[in-house]
Amino acid sequence: MENGGSPAPANGWRFKGNDDLTQASSLTVRGVLNMLMGNLNSDDTRPVIPLGHGDPSAFPSFGTTPFAVDAVCAALRSALFNGYSSTVGIPSARRAIAEYLSKDLPYELSPDDVFLTIGCSQALEAIISILARPGANILLPRPGFPYYEARAGFSHLEFRHFDLLPENDWEVDLASVETLCDENTVAMVIINPGNPCGNVFKYDHLKKVAEAAKKLGIMVISDEVYDHLAFGSCPFVPMGVFGSIVPVVTLGSISKRWIVPGWRMGWLVTNDPHGILTKQGIVESIKGFLNITSDPATFMQGAIPEILENTPSHFFEKIIGTLKETAEICYERTKEIPYITCPSKPEGSMFVMVKLNLPLLDDIEDDLDFCSKLAKEESVILLPGLAVGLKNWIRVTFAIEPSSLEDGFRRIKDFCQRHAKKQ
Ligand SMILES: *Cc1c(COP(=O)(O)O)cnc(C)c1O
Repeated sequence: MENGGSPAPANGWRFKGNDDLTQASSLTVRGVLNMLMGNLNSDDTRPVIPLGHGDPSAFPSFGTTPFAVDAVCAALRSALFNGYSSTVGIPSARRAIAEYLSKDLPYELSPDDVFLTIGCSQALEAIISILARPGANILLPRPGFPYYEARAGFSHLEFRHFDLLPENDWEVDLASVETLCDENTVAMVIINPGNPCGNVFKYDHLKKVAEAAKKLGIMVISDEVYDHLAFGSCPFVPMGVFGSIVPVVTLGSISKRWIVPGWRMGWLVTNDPHGILTKQGIVESIKGFLNITSDPATFMQGAIPEILENTPSHFFEKIIGTLKETAEICYERTKEIPYITCPSKPEGSMFVMVKLNLPLLDDIEDDLDFCSKLAKEESVILLPGLAVGLKNWIRVTFAIEPSSLEDGFRRIKDFCQRHAKKQ
């Protein structure tokens, strides 16, 4: 070999970090929140009010149900789930997820349509990786969930943004979807119920999305990790309902509805009664991807049938009741603060987007500046809209104890008044 035994390069080492990864993690939600936490003033003796997070599991009102904990313990104790699972997931869990999702569909899913993943995150990684052919592009919502941009970027899959329209309850700007789409576009992503907007898409709008995607020849990836966390006038409708119009890949998990994001149990499901995803080789690719990655813990898979089939409904009712209450507080308190505007009342998930009225504020440059100063002066953490693709907006998480939320809004109001432009 010509290069065999060639001496080390001048600096001594041949290996180096992957710049793609440094770039991918530069603007994540976690990265921005960590930066803001670093801005807190340690002399402030008041409790920090975290309104930027996406994981309420530590708050007393948002604890999971003991029923789910028992189901996991029982699966573990049974000693039936100590081995590796098959790469697509164990049959009982696939069947249970197919039945759980089919309740809201006009057709029956087969267990073969269901692939178990390590949270919804791995489902997202799987579908993005599969679609990342050289030259292909994907359409992502703005504002959105930046993990999509990060994964697509790392896979060298070009992404283009279509807008969600605040004046239309954050519906998809379908005209821009058509304009963005070209012969290399393979899919569009929707998140319903919405993160970061707290919107729930109406049946008719989803149907229009399906028809637009069908016309363009692209699949719809529907991130339904907040499935059933809807507490307004619009019921949650899964995109899979329109699977006979256009092939739909649904991504989900138990992380949000059961408030156990640490359990890492999710799924990728093909909603495709006409078998188009199979014909196009997507299903084989899903299996191929799962063959070269790890699987969710087998005992978690073992607990899934019990968790999905038998969780007492009063648990869901309690969580929905609390979210409805805190969403209301969020909306009403925002209305009382002229320096921020909420275009539509949140009806789902655990977030809402609020616009900063910067011309009314004196020494605030932008959303990041607002959030940094707020952290320092009031010990309140909010997510700058920049982190979800919408500059000079902020994302508020309302999945927190109602009393803390009230406290947080009092501090935000004080902060804004202190920084208001003098007339
Ligand atoms: C939380 C979240 C995910 C990831 O879910 P996990 O099950 O925790 O991996 C995916 N998409 C959106 C929109 C989310 O908010």
